[in-house]
Amino acid sequence: MAEKHRCSATVYGQGVIGGYLCSREGTVQADGKWWCHQHSPAAKATREAKWEASFDARRAERERQDRISDAERDYRDAAVAWAEHRLTDGALCADAKPWWDKDRALLNAFDASKAALDAAKKGGAQ
Ligand SMILES: [Zn+2]
Repeated sequence: MAEKHRCSATVYGQGVIGGYLCSREGTVQADGKWWCHQHSPAAKATREAKWEASFDARRAERERQDRISDAERDYRDAAVAWAEHRLTDGALCADAKPWWDKDRALLNAFDASKAALDAAKKGGAQ
């Protein structure tokens, strides 16, 4: 009959000062000690890797949402700038080339901001 070992992990819980030894049987031997399925270094590494992956995924999603918010603001600003140009500059100099140059530039900026917003929503690079 195989000799039984106890898990070497110290468990820290709420209200416990200094922690206590894990009560489970040690089934995995690593680093010269016995560990239960939960406390083996391999299990710990797997847990940490999973946690890091989920942390990275949540951070990436937050950053994507930030980029979308920024792009939406730029899109609104561009639309407002173009509308203001048409409403306020229009009556004064609608025949002049500078008016049309400005109009074209604002429209281009508006189109570019829309493309940037679409890209942000798709999760692409900025
Ligand atoms: Zn354990």
